[in-house]
Amino acid sequence: MKKIPFVTKEQLEQIVKAYPTPFHIYDEKGIRENARKVYKAFSWNKGFKEYFAVKATPNPILLKILQEEGCGTDCSSLTELMMSDACGFSGHDIMFSSNDTPAEDFELAGRLGALINLDDITHIDFVEKILGRLPETMSCRYNTGGQFQLSNGIMDTPGEAKYGFTREQMTEGFKIMKEKGVKHFGIHAFLASNTKTNEYYPALARILFKTAVELKEETGASIEFINLSGGVGIPYHPDEEPNDILAIGEGVRQAYEEILVPAGMDNVAIYTEMGRFMLGPYGHLITRAIHEKHTYKEYIGVDACACNLMRPAMYGAYHHITVAGKEDAPCDHKYDVTGSLCENNDKFAVDRMLPKIDKGDLLIIHDTGAHGFSMGYNYNGKLRSAEILLKEDGTTRLIRRAETPKDYFATLDVTGLMDKYLN
Ligand SMILES: *Cc1c(COP(=O)(O)O)cnc(C)c1O
Repeated sequence: MKKIPFVTKEQLEQIVKAYPTPFHIYDEKGIRENARKVYKAFSWNKGFKEYFAVKATPNPILLKILQEEGCGTDCSSLTELMMSDACGFSGHDIMFSSNDTPAEDFELAGRLGALINLDDITHIDFVEKILGRLPETMSCRYNTGGQFQLSNGIMDTPGEAKYGFTREQMTEGFKIMKEKGVKHFGIHAFLASNTKTNEYYPALARILFKTAVELKEETGASIEFINLSGGVGIPYHPDEEPNDILAIGEGVRQAYEEILVPAGMDNVAIYTEMGRFMLGPYGHLITRAIHEKHTYKEYIGVDACACNLMRPAMYGAYHHITVAGKEDAPCDHKYDVTGSLCENNDKFAVDRMLPKIDKGDLLIIHDTGAHGFSMGYNYNGKLRSAEILLKEDGTTRLIRRAETPKDYFATLDVTGLMDKYLN
């Protein structure tokens, strides 16, 4: 499917007058429409809730938009909990799905009354010690082990993943927590990332639903929610088929009718913790071509780098690029599009066929709305970019300013040495 940016060259020309490149821009209209579709897909389930995975795009203004659409937050760290709290998410609006969790994180999760989704059986005692006693509602993350396979092949290898309880530990953990006074239970699993098939959630749901029925029989625990976590993918490449969330919701409904309803578990709420699917397509990284270099290959140097978007450098991930104003021009030039890091993997595209790029052109790098800005870093002393919201009425709002050198130097403790650049 042809990938069409949500901003035009004319809009960008206006925006760059106020905010210099590079920056990430988010599309409020697209975010809201997509969130509504997610809720429609699961409207058959009374307790359904999407807990947006904050790590994907930790910006309070975006969290507030998702909150208005009915979402909670899924946190995995202290600062994500703080941000959720500050945005007015409270109690069971917050899912805390962390691993290798520091005591202070559990302490805040407990204080906020968040739903705690344990990653390991040893954390039962750990949490009990920190909070004095276990909350009345607890959840456990299940790791199925081995390989996870769907009809189109092996999706991932949970047996190699650090997360979750084994199947035996799930039973044991539930028994222990029941004895310690826990009354309401949930189960969770995340078996594959960025899945590009409508089969993933339904297949995962079948596994978790069967496990829930077994756990109820084995332990008598009252299982009140099943959390399908994240992992629903997006079409980064134009050749990829987008997931159909309505079909996914329907697939989960069928599994629910087949497995949970006959077991008398027709009150179980379905939760999701999507990050990528909620925001990925609704963010662009906007960057300007500042150099062209002709050596053994043709290079276009842009003013963004892997510090602004790590996925291509880290995973070799494909991110589609549109040259603003050249949407319909023939892609008859082969380029490597590079950032300025002293790392040869700092390339947004390798051997990519694009229209002829001229210095000064604005490049739109697609699908940076999740795991984009948030994976940023400061290598080579690069500064984090601004984030801008394109509002539904077409106006823009700066929702994070760009870092300055002063921000970068601020944590140094060097008795006046850097004062020239700090004052
Ligand atoms: C990363 C993560 C998510 C979100 O994953 P997406 O691939 O962005 O949907 C959800 N839950 C947990 C526990 C995660 O670690």
